[in-house]
Amino acid sequence: MPGWRNARMPLRRSTALDPASPRFLAAAHAPPWHAALRQRLARRPAVPVEVLVLLASAGWAFSANLPFLRAALQGRDAGDAAAWGFGAALVVMLLALHTLLLALLCNRWTVKPVLALLTVAAAAALFYMQAFGIYLDPTMLRNLLRTHPAEARELLSPALALHMAVYAGLPLALLAWVRVAPRRWSRALLLRAALLLGAAAVLLGTGLAVFQPLSSLMRNQRELRYLVTPANLLWSAGAVVAADARGAARPRQPIGQDAAPGPSWAARQRPLLLVLVVGETARAANWGLNAGAPGLSPRATTPELAQRLQQPPSAGQGALVNFSGVQSCGTNTETSLPCMFAPVGRRDYDETRIRGQESLLHVLARAGVQVHWRDNQSGCKGVCDGLPAETVQPADAPALCADGRCLDEALLHDLDRRLDNAQGTQLLVLHMIGSHGPSYFRRYPAAFARFQPDCREDDLRRCSVEQVANAYDNSLLYTDHVLATAIARLQARAGTVDSALLYVSDHGESLGEHGLFLHGLPYAIAPDVQTRVPMLAWTSPGLEHAAGLPGGCLQPAWQRLKAAPLAHDQLFHTVLGLLDVRTALHDPALDLTQGCRTAVTTVTTASTTP
Ligand SMILES: [Zn+2]
Repeated sequence: MPGWRNARMPLRRSTALDPASPRFLAAAHAPPWHAALRQRLARRPAVPVEVLVLLASAGWAFSANLPFLRAALQGRDAGDAAAWGFGAALVVMLLALHTLLLALLCNRWTVKPVLALLTVAAAAALFYMQAFGIYLDPTMLRNLLRTHPAEARELLSPALALHMAVYAGLPLALLAWVRVAPRRWSRALLLRAALLLGAAAVLLGTGLAVFQPLSSLMRNQRELRYLVTPANLLWSAGAVVAADARGAARPRQPIGQDAAPGPSWAARQRPLLLVLVVGETARAANWGLNAGAPGLSPRATTPELAQRLQQPPSAGQGALVNFSGVQSCGTNTETSLPCMFAPVGRRDYDETRIRGQESLLHVLARAGVQVHWRDNQSGCKGVCDGLPAETVQPADAPALCADGRCLDEALLHDLDRRLDNAQGTQLLVLHMIGSHGPSYFRRYPAAFARFQPDCREDDLRRCSVEQVANAYDNSLLYTDHVLATAIARLQARAGTVDSALLYVSDHGESLGEHGLFLHGLPYAIAPDVQTRVPMLAWTSPGLEHAAGLPGGCLQPAWQRLKAAPLAHDQLFHTVLGLLDVRTALHDPALDLTQGCRTAVTTVTTASTTP
């Protein structure tokens, strides 16, 4: 505003400074502040793109890739010169690989944003690889990208903030300080070509020089490539984007178009409700009902269900069976959930096919089953697309919810109403938050904090392994309570609604064994604790009749399978069996009710044989 400037000018002149003095003249001729800033900025070091690329690659080789180097050199003798040679070759290859990748992505304008983004991502990746022993393969990345905001909050900690300040903050400050040296385009092109060719030659040459140990390492531990950071992030992000683009380009392929109600539907006297509870991160090794199963010695984490299991069978009670030998399809929700609801399962696993097709729920809906998905976690991962679905809302059960996150009992909020109004054949899927880590202590109310002392930190590293296991087992105690409560409610209405409850966890968890925490390791190298999961089934007294099975045959058939090796692969076919939905997709060999049906066939054959 000119008036304001004019008003201030005489005030300046009226200061003690003599207009003829050198200080006054210097001040009068000083450049304005923005020009001074520009001058100062112009004095910052100008660094060519190629040098920035090499510096970043070198920095990552010695920071973010320490977990890779440690794993790759594990078991080698520190006094062995060959081991040192191999280690040096790996460092050179890491440097060359990242230089090659960056040389393709960076130019004068993109170098700063690309390096900034990858530096932050690599620093965060390093933190979680070191803290929990995770591998950043495409499914792990998908899992992270789809994490619920409340879950993501639990992954943040002061330790992470400090780590990020050192591994991301310092490099970012340096990156912000330097200038990118401008170049003529012809010279820039020439330099880039030289860098690309040089990096490729070094990568190839070093690879050939250590071909023998390198090829045996990559053959025996293929998963190690997912520790090469940030190349793992670029590769996995590319794989996820490509898979999603393929999926988005095609609508889900219909499956089981021949699905139809079985003959038992017409003979049913009451509505039929199957409650399928999809557990989260519960592992077989800590599941109390598995006590006595080969290789498992859990604590008493399932007292309410155990009491039900030990009760002598009586009329109206229904029957409970625990299956101790169940293998999960994946080691994370993103893999397991779609797989559990697909006809192919782990035995013929094909992620693209599973994601591109409809699920068990669509097949059931086609046959006339009323399907409903109720979620207390990160959604149904596409298996309930287009079908009735809802997420647990804090308003449903305010006493069970805090900070936008609800305890699993909130899943049962409207179970009684549903039972009162039940008609026809229904499938209710309840997707638990279960034992989702690392904040196990947020999964159970105070009354279930029975194993003490329990870890009450989001950052597991601040607790002892014993405290972590206590918190985890407390979360199982609460899962036990939720399942027992659901069964009690179904049992109370068994006179008016035939029902069954099937519970199976999506994958297991590492609790510090071999220095590993959480889950999501590539399946081939995942420990048993991440892939062996609890499963149980409860059936109401009228269920067999409703499912078209001969009375009294299901329990003996299931008792024989108690410790048998089973898998998520059986879920699809068993649900079809329990609801008596007929389709060519149904594989009787994988249907756990089949022992019973075989008996039917045998009986029928015997009685009709002349
Ligand atoms: Zn999960």
